[in-house]
Amino acid sequence: MEYFFNFEKLAYVTGKKPDGCILCLIRDNSPEVVNLTVHESELFIVSINLYPFNPGHLMIFPQRHTYTCILFLDIHVNLESQTY
Ligand SMILES: [Zn+2]
Repeated sequence: MEYFFNFEKLAYVTGKKPDGCILCLIRDNSPEVVNLTVHESELFIVSINLYPFNPGHLMIFPQRHTYTCILFLDIHVNLESQTY
């Protein structure tokens, strides 16, 4: 990898954003976002951050859209408990 900091971050922060959740757009491989996915499982996606805060900045996010991690974990635990 040749860059550690994307100097176009200010243009991104102040510019027009795609409609919808950016993480879901990455998951759905939308042409509106840059997809830098490095790993994908049934539950999570690991992606390089296009505008990293430091070298090697990765984002780990759930495949399913949720508003909070607590909600994701609670629903997942409930689903898991139903299978046993
Ligand atoms: Zn989402």
